[in-house]
Amino acid sequence: MLIRGGAGMGVDRAKIRWNGWGWAAHKDEFAQRDDLWKWLASELGMPALLATPARPLEELELPGGKLPLPDREALNAIAGAENVRDSAYERAFHALGRSYHDLLRLRAGDLSTAPAAVVYPRGADEVLAVLAFAARERIAVVPFGGGTSVVGGVTGARGPFQTAIALDLSAMDRMIEVDAVSGTATAEAGINGPALEKALQAKGLTLGHIPQSFEFSTLGGWIAHRGAGQLSNRYGCAGDWLVAAKLATPRGMLSTGDFPASAAGPHLADLVAGSEGIFGVITEATVRVRPVPAMNEYRGYLFRDFPSGTAAVRTAARDGNGAAMLRLADAEETRLLRAFGALGKVRRAADKLADAYLKLRGCADRPCLLIGAFEDPVSRRSFAAIARRFGAVDLSTAAGERWRRTRFQLPYLRDSLLDRGVGVAKVETASSWAKIDALYAATRAAIDAAIRETVPREGARGMVMCHIGHSYPTGACLGFTFVFPRALDGDIAQWSKIKTAASEAIVANGGTISHHLGVGEDHLPWIAQEKGALGIDVLRAIKAALDPEGILNPGKLLPPGPPEDG
Ligand SMILES: Cc1cc2nc3c(=O)[nH]c(=O)nc-3n(C[C@H](O)[C@H](O)[C@H](O)COP(=O)(O)OP(=O)(O)OC[C@H]3O[C@@H](n4cnc5c(N)ncnc54)[C@H](O)[C@@H]3O)c2cc1C
Repeated sequence: MLIRGGAGMGVDRAKIRWNGWGWAAHKDEFAQRDDLWKWLASELGMPALLATPARPLEELELPGGKLPLPDREALNAIAGAENVRDSAYERAFHALGRSYHDLLRLRAGDLSTAPAAVVYPRGADEVLAVLAFAARERIAVVPFGGGTSVVGGVTGARGPFQTAIALDLSAMDRMIEVDAVSGTATAEAGINGPALEKALQAKGLTLGHIPQSFEFSTLGGWIAHRGAGQLSNRYGCAGDWLVAAKLATPRGMLSTGDFPASAAGPHLADLVAGSEGIFGVITEATVRVRPVPAMNEYRGYLFRDFPSGTAAVRTAARDGNGAAMLRLADAEETRLLRAFGALGKVRRAADKLADAYLKLRGCADRPCLLIGAFEDPVSRRSFAAIARRFGAVDLSTAAGERWRRTRFQLPYLRDSLLDRGVGVAKVETASSWAKIDALYAATRAAIDAAIRETVPREGARGMVMCHIGHSYPTGACLGFTFVFPRALDGDIAQWSKIKTAASEAIVANGGTISHHLGVGEDHLPWIAQEKGALGIDVLRAIKAALDPEGILNPGKLLPPGPPEDG
């Protein structure tokens, strides 16, 4: 039985911050907390944190012109005049993504990558028509989902062309078909997380892809960046749940089959996952869906140290434990989470008793918090046994629920930190279990050293945290978050130095340059090392076949160079 329908609910761009995270109306509860800022200043070895507000849009000049009139009229004819927009807000919103590097540039008023216009197509035919027109007129096209890329994936770069436009897919947000018999759903690529889940859950189904950017990112962006949601241990990453896709290219539509399996040569959907908008524009995708689970429990465990927690996660992953999430914070992340949670709270006798118990269990010095998400009693029981075997203390559901409640709020804190001269950035990688310990130690040390070299004053320091966020039978993903005082006279150079140090340590220690965030512009210096020269040639050949003029998303995923111009 096929069930059709389920209209999406696109996000109104005017209600989202153009130079920060999330809803413009959202008030970050931490911004006014003096106790937080005093504590943070002392953690970072700074006498005080200075106010460092972002520049308002009204003050800024938008460099580069709007579209020439004939181009504008041609696009109006394709997509409708109301769907070709070039206000300052639209162009600024689509200039960059949401990485730390992007935010530094946006907040400083650097809008040099603002596209000349933003086109909001209403369907696949319009996408094909825009691409054919842009290829003919040699206009760069940057596919844009939610714009939450954190690797420079949506920078409005023109490449060798005079003009770039952003192709914002958010108006293409319909659920096309839910096939409950096959356990698949087909939706337009611009549908965002809440709209997709709402339509699926109305039929008792879920995709289970919940990245931290869930509210604002889109199905097309998840696939194009090969993303991983928080529950990836159960539901898989985008490359796992993608069944089929339609990819609009300047040469026409590439449709991949939706067979459950096929030996008819390489699977074309594998070219779509991770294609980052350089091969084509995903207009719709068919994905594997599952019944909404009857149980949904988040639970905390405290391990005595990172190695014992890592061993428990590894054992669970290798045993096929089935937990939806096993998120293990290292000692520094655990310390900061606990210190942050305790701010402004009075310590009671019960807290002291709990501390004494943890000490007794050997969890006092460098404890590590694991949050598990369990959707069936079997995986919960089996993980509880593994945790006991590795000496963990069961913190019950209170710790898990606290994490679940705040998981979408933390990105707002990044803007408040930036307002106080504090930087916060992330890098992530993955490797095999045999290499994880060395990869962790080397990357952490490299980030720490680079922060110490670039802090604005002697004695200042950063905080480097890490967690295992996604695990597999053969290895795991490490996600590092680091908080540091910004070098206000050169914060982009500071970021570049820290990012380079981290990336070099990752590559030298057998990690991938990205587990789930993609390549974009930011990881280009390391992609050839990972794929090899021949691998890059293969990707270039695919691009040349699908996008011979090279108009799609210039400067992302593939490093500049041979064969044509090398
Ligand atoms: C606070 C925060 C938390 C995050 N948490 C996670 C997380 O938990 N897991 C995770 O995986 N990622 C995470 N990300 C990164 C980001 O949200 C993901 O990469 C996401 O998949 C991007 O989706 P998007 O719709 O915003 O795509 P965009 O940022 O708009 O685009 C991403 C890339 O895909 C291309 N693209 C977009 N749509 C299409 C399309 N229809 N066809 C072809 N190409 C397209 C773009 O050109 C670009 O190269 C986070 C980002 C932020 C800012």
